[in-house]
Amino acid sequence: MSAFVTEPAHETPVLGEWEVVVLGGGPSGLAAATAAARAGRSTLLVEKNGYLGGAGTGGGLSTFCGMYSNVHGEHVLTVRGHATELLERIDRLGGLRAPHRSFADRIQAQAYDIPAYRRAADEHVLAAGAQLLYHAFAVGASSDESTVDGIVVESKSGRGILRAKVVIDCSGDGDLLAWTKTSHEKADPHGEMLFPSTMFRINAVDGERAGPAWKILPRMMDEAVAAGRPKFPRRGAIVRPQRDDLEWRANATQLRNPDGTAIDGTDVWQLTRGEVQGREQAQEVFEFIRGNVPGFERAYIVDIGPEIGIRETRRLLGKYVLTEDDVRSCATFDDSIGLNGWPVEAHVDGDLDIRWPYGDDPVGCNQLPYRMLVPADGPSNLLVAGRCASMTHGGQSAARVAGPCFAMGQAAGTAAHLALKGDAVVANVDVPRLRTELESEGAWLSV
Ligand SMILES: Cc1cc2nc3c(=O)[nH]c(=O)nc-3n(C[C@H](O)[C@H](O)[C@H](O)COP(=O)(O)OP(=O)(O)OC[C@H]3O[C@@H](n4cnc5c(N)ncnc54)[C@H](O)[C@@H]3O)c2cc1C
Repeated sequence: MSAFVTEPAHETPVLGEWEVVVLGGGPSGLAAATAAARAGRSTLLVEKNGYLGGAGTGGGLSTFCGMYSNVHGEHVLTVRGHATELLERIDRLGGLRAPHRSFADRIQAQAYDIPAYRRAADEHVLAAGAQLLYHAFAVGASSDESTVDGIVVESKSGRGILRAKVVIDCSGDGDLLAWTKTSHEKADPHGEMLFPSTMFRINAVDGERAGPAWKILPRMMDEAVAAGRPKFPRRGAIVRPQRDDLEWRANATQLRNPDGTAIDGTDVWQLTRGEVQGREQAQEVFEFIRGNVPGFERAYIVDIGPEIGIRETRRLLGKYVLTEDDVRSCATFDDSIGLNGWPVEAHVDGDLDIRWPYGDDPVGCNQLPYRMLVPADGPSNLLVAGRCASMTHGGQSAARVAGPCFAMGQAAGTAAHLALKGDAVVANVDVPRLRTELESEGAWLSV
């Protein structure tokens, strides 16, 4: 059998042309599309699913992390601007719980209802004037070495090209980086990537009896293993109530290949293995919880994330690469476009390792430079935002969460608008002007 088949040449229809096309509707993509459209640019947001939110909806996460920073001991909302408006929309739909403290009360996060997030995100992006294209899987780019002028999509309507003057890669996996041969990397120097997880939610919990079960569950699991039970997929299980104490979320699985490496979210066979394994692990962990944790006796799994949650794959090599040291030393930059207050949350083999900012009384957040959205090489009209922006493995282990992704997205959409005022070269954007525009839209660039 031959390894390749030559398909007949064919003409690909151009489905339309926009000033800005954003690939991927996660927190970074929906923020990028909103910002570009609000600035008056014709904007298309392309998403393979039938809803926005990215891992935050499709991966079943249900918590916003990184919106708050622990600034000298005070929990401060540091990701502001369009993201806070989105959260207000979710709140108006009754979909937000008051923020809670995580990780020994050192940082604040906020639970949401996934249907409310989906609904609010539709409204948020459409109200800005952007156009949506759901159920369209991008499979390639139309580009040469200096520019990318379109994204190739496949859908129920067939194959087509979406033309753009500026393209923003918010695919999480940096798909456009691969297709346009823009420099990027995957994994740390030892070949390790953060392990993915399948999220699940539990219903019919007696919240009063469960109490702060999140404090005792990890210890109970460790004790069970010490007493001879087979190891769990990972230590450091996270369980917390959702909007109502009846419903809890669980972040407790870890997906690996037979050789022990993390499932690679850019490999379809590994993704398939991860889906099957994730549901199996969810069941296993749930049964332990139901059988051992007070208040969960009548509980059941109400939902398993529609797709596995991928934390890390390709990362851009940009004009600046944000490092773990930048995160932990609360670095500042002249070209700051937003803030990250989340610590390094490293999903390592079999465990969870949280690494905090250095010192006894840290500022508690690092600035995010515009240069981490700008490729060091490749097409001049390509921006990258979200978890595939330019960060090391360690830097990305922190700034990949929703808050900083919203901030990066808003900055990328605004930068696309400014680039289009000139030569559409994103590296030539007037950064002081970008910062002024972001601040005028409510963003915080420093504390
Ligand atoms: C298991 C797990 C738990 C997590 N828990 C939290 C948490 O509690 N709180 C938190 O804030 N963060 C959490 N995170 C981090 C989370 O990944 C980020 O917050 C965030 O979702 C990353 O945003 P993004 O916009 O960069 O990419 P994503 O959210 O990954 O969104 C990318 C979007 O692009 C679309 N897409 C990708 N490729 C294509 C293509 N080729 N064609 C069309 N569409 C495409 C995808 O469908 C997706 O909608 C968790 C991550 C995982 C995996």
